[in-house]
Amino acid sequence: MSLVNLSTPEIWFVCGSQHLYGPGPLKQVAANAQAVVDGLVKSKRLALPLKFKALLTTPEEISKVCIEANTDANCAGLVLWMHTFSPSKMWIRGLTTLKKPFLHLHTQFNRDLPWASIDMDFMNLNQAAHGDREAGFIHTRLRLGRKVVVGHWSDSEVQDRISAWMRATHAWHDWQGAKFARFGDNMRYVAVTEGDKVASEIKFGFEVNGYGVGDLAAKVNAVSDQAITDLVASYEKLYAVVPALKKAGKRHAELRYSARLELGLSAMLTEIGAKGFTDTFEDLHGLRQLPGMATQRLMAAGYGFGGEGDWKTAALVRAMKVMGHGLPGGTSFMEDYTYHLSPKGHQVLGAHMLEICPSIAAAKPKVEIHPLGIGGKEDPVRFVFDAPAGEALNASLVHLGNRFRLLINEVKAVKVPAMPNLPVARAVWECKPDFKTACAAWIYSGGAHHTGYSYAVTSEMLEDFATIAGIETVHIDADTRLSQLKQDLRNNEVFYHLENGFRA
Ligand code: MN
Repeated sequence: MSLVNLSTPEIWFVCGSQHLYGPGPLKQVAANAQAVVDGLVKSKRLALPLKFKALLTTPEEISKVCIEANTDANCAGLVLWMHTFSPSKMWIRGLTTLKKPFLHLHTQFNRDLPWASIDMDFMNLNQAAHGDREAGFIHTRLRLGRKVVVGHWSDSEVQDRISAWMRATHAWHDWQGAKFARFGDNMRYVAVTEGDKVASEIKFGFEVNGYGVGDLAAKVNAVSDQAITDLVASYEKLYAVVPALKKAGKRHAELRYSARLELGLSAMLTEIGAKGFTDTFEDLHGLRQLPGMATQRLMAAGYGFGGEGDWKTAALVRAMKVMGHGLPGGTSFMEDYTYHLSPKGHQVLGAHMLEICPSIAAAKPKVEIHPLGIGGKEDPVRFVFDAPAGEALNASLVHLGNRFRLLINEVKAVKVPAMPNLPVARAVWECKPDFKTACAAWIYSGGAHHTGYSYAVTSEMLEDFATIAGIETVHIDADTRLSQLKQDLRNNEVFYHLENGFRA
C-alpha cells in the first residue's frame, strides 16, 4: 500500500576523477561508473531509484551539479565515489553549497585484483583506495555529516547499507516543506510534548501550524450520509466489528459517527496538504468523541500522529513510516504505558488510550466501543488488537532547549498475553540490553513517554536520518552500558554546544 502524500525521488550517483589521465581512461571511468549504477539497480535491493548523473573532473562541473541537486525537487541525495584520484580542493566550492544529503561509497570497479596481468594502466585507472581517502579528508575537514559505506558494489551487504541510507534520505526529503496540523494545543502542563516549532522548521524543514477545532468540526458535520454509509460498509468487510456496532446493532450510529470523524479529518488534512496531525482530548469543541478508529485508520494510510498535541512525535512517526515503507512490519505512535516487573523478566506494556496504528496488528483488528474515562465526551470507537512478537524499536525526538536529540531503544516484542478486559490496541516488549539499563538510559537521556514504534525501521536508518538532520542520536541497544552512556551524554552536551565553532 502506498503512503498518503508520498513522492518517490531519485538519488544521483556522481563519480569523481580528474583530467590527468587523458580522454581514453576517463571514458572508461564513466563506463565503469555506469556499470556500477546498473549493477546496484539490478540488485533490486535499493529503496530508491539510482541514476548515474555525471563524471566530474573540474571545480566548475562539481559546483554545477551540487547547485543542480539543491534545486531539483526530485533529487533526494547523492552517492559520491572517486574511481580515480580526484584532488579534493576541486570539491570545496560544490560541497560547501550542497544542501542535499550524500553518501560516500568507498568501492572499486573490479572486485579481485588481476594478479597475473596487473600493470601501470590498471593502477592508473583503479585508484579509489587512495582517491576516496582524499575525498574523505575534505568531507571531514568541512565537517560534513555523511554516511561512508565500504566494500565491493556487488556485495549485498554494501547494497543494504546504501538502501538503509536511501530510506533515511527518503524520509528527510519527505519532511522538507511537509505540513503537520495541530487541532488543539499541547495537553495542559505537559513538558516533553512542547518544543520550539521555529527551531524545528529551521532544523528539519517541516511546518507545524494550529487549526481551529471548530473548523474541523464543521468539516466533520459536512460529511455526506452516503459517504459514511459506503465507508462503514467497508469496515464490516475489513475488520471484526462487534455486533452492537454493525448495521443492525443498537450502537451502529456511533460507528457511523466514527466514520464521519475519519472523513472530516481526512478532508481537512487533504485541504491543508498535511502529512500528519495532533489532537487532544482537552479540546474537542464541537466533536462528540476523541477520534479513535478515525485516527488509527489515518495513521495506517500514512499520516504521522501524536496524541495530546505532540507534534514532534507526529512528525517522527511520519518519517518512520516513510523509512519503513514497503518493508514487512508496521509503524505506530506508541506510549510506554505500564510495566510487568516479574523476577522472571521485566516487560513493557505499550499502548495508548486509543491511537495505535493497525499497521502493527498481528491479526484482523476488532472494532469495539468503550468509555474513554477522560475528556468527558461520548464513548469512542476504536480498534483493539495485539501487536506481533519480533524485533522492534522505539524512537523519541526531544527538544532540549538549545537543540534536538533522537533516542532509539531496540526492543524484542513478545506475544501479547490475553487481556480480555483491556479494550485498547497493545504491544508487549522486552528492552535491550535489559529493562533496568534501558529505562535508566532512556530517562537520563530525557526520552519522551511518546514514541514512534516500528518493526520495519532499523537503528541504522534512524542514525543515518539523525546524521542528515545534524542532530544527536542516543542509541540504547544490546551493547549499552549505563556508565558509558552517561559519559556520552555529558560529552555530547559539550560537542553540540560547540559544534558550530568547529566549522570555520
Ligand atoms: Mn499520551
